[in-house]
Amino acid sequence: MDFTPYEFRNQPWFDQQNFQGFNEAIPMKTMVVHCFDPRAAEIPEAVAEHFGDEVFPGENVLDEEGNRVGHTRTLFPLANAGGRAVDAVQAVATMDYLFRFKTVAVVHHSFCGATAFGPDQIIDRYRDEHGVDISDTFARESLSIPHFDESVKHDLALLRSHPAVPKETRLFGFFYEINTGKLVEIARDVPA
Ligand SMILES: [Zn+2]
Repeated sequence: MDFTPYEFRNQPWFDQQNFQGFNEAIPMKTMVVHCFDPRAAEIPEAVAEHFGDEVFPGENVLDEEGNRVGHTRTLFPLANAGGRAVDAVQAVATMDYLFRFKTVAVVHHSFCGATAFGPDQIIDRYRDEHGVDISDTFARESLSIPHFDESVKHDLALLRSHPAVPKETRLFGFFYEINTGKLVEIARDVPA
C-alpha cells in the first residue's frame, strides 16, 4: 500500500516552505508530562482545571466531508514512566516546530511505582538479569523518584537546560495525589 497520499508534505495545498504552524487547526498551548499509571489518568483534566483557560479533552473539528481537520484541545498529555522530563524533550522539540505552544507542566503522583526503588536497584537488576550496565545510560536522578520535591525540581531544571526547550517556555511542576485528586504546585520557572 502506498501511504504517501496521507502525508501533509504531499498535499497540493500544503506549503512546506511557508509553514506557519498548525495552531489554527489545533490551538495547542500546554504539554502535560505525567505518569502512565492508570490510577493517575485524570492528571490532564486536573491541570486543565488548575490553569483555568485550557480546553481538555475538547472535540474534533470537521470539514463538510466529515474529515478531521482540527481539534479544540489546547492541552496535550504526554504519558511515560513516572512522568519524567527525560522522556519528554523529543516531544517538546516536535511540538515546538508544529505549534507555538507556551507551557510544559511536569506532574509526579502519589504512590508512583518509581518511588518503589532507587537508581541502584534498577542498575543492579539490569546487571544481574540482563547482563548489561545502564549506569551511564540515564542520569541517576531520572531513573527513579526518591523524593517528590527533588524529582519535580530536577525535571524542571533538565528542561530549562536542554537545548531543545525554547528559553521562553513556561515550566510548572506539580504533585498529584491519586486518591483525592489534589494538585499541588511544587515549582515553577516562568521567564519574564
Ligand atoms: Zn507513576
